[in-house]
This record gives sequence, C-alpha cells and structure tokens, in this order.
Amino acid sequence: MSSAERSNLDLFCPICSAVRDSKFIEYDEHCEIHGFELAYHITAYECMTCGEELADPANPELMDPVYDAYRAASGTLRPEEVKAIRERSGLSQVAFATILGMSPATINRYEMGSPLAVKEDNLIRMAGIPSAMRMLMQQRGHLLKPGQRPA
Ligand SMILES: [Zn+2]
Repeated sequence: MSSAERSNLDLFCPICSAVRDSKFIEYDEHCEIHGFELAYHITAYECMTCGEELADPANPELMDPVYDAYRAASGTLRPEEVKAIRERSGLSQVAFATILGMSPATINRYEMGSPLAVKEDNLIRMAGIPSAMRMLMQQRGHLLKPGQRPA
C-alpha cells in the first residue's frame, strides 16, 4: 500500500507552536499486538523547521490499518461485530460487561475499534450464541440491576 509522493503542506507543529511548511514522509513500521507481529505503512508529514513528525490529515486514524492487519492475522472480531453481538443480547454496554466479567470501559473500547485479545474475542463470540447467553444470564444475571435486564 504505497502512496504517491505528495506536495508540502502548511501544518500546525506542536513543538514550534506555529503553522510550518511540512514535507510528506512515508516508511514501514512494525509492532506487536496481543502476540501478533504486524507490519504496516506510515504516511505522515515532517515539520521542516524542527523535524517533528506530524499526523497526515488525509489519514488521521493512524492505527486503523494496523488494527485491521491484527484482525486479519488473529481472526478476531471487528468493532461492529462486537456491537452487533451485544445489541442482539438486548444488553447495554455496562450490563453486557457485567455478564461477561469485563469492565464497561473495555467493551466500549472494543466497540470503538481497539483490538481484542483472543481470550476476550472467544468470550464475546460465546455471548453471541443464544444458549450460551442464557447460561451466562442464569449464572450472572443476578448481578444486573432491574433496569439492565433485556426486555
Ligand atoms: Zn516544528
């Protein structure tokens, strides 16, 4: 996924605290997410005054392609799939997290795009199986407040 060379932009540089002439840069990077080694391609700009790397305005969600690569490598659920499973259960994020023994902030992060570890992925997939969800509700449903129960 290589991009053609792009012309300079005037971008705000937080180090200079000013709008600066910035040149397009791109390079390959790698990282590890939940045990998976991932290679990805960075496009960004570089402040021509101080050399600070600035986010590419055409690609502000820098980590999205990395998370996509992680999901392809690990076979874990996409954010919209996590949300769809939860919504089918009829539970709010807080109630769903309670039933699965996770924190509501974690469920929220997964639905917003954070990559799931395989263990959490398996648990959320299980919650998508109606008979497994009934079992979880029998086991942990008493932890829900009355208003949190599915209709
Ligand atoms: Zn600068």
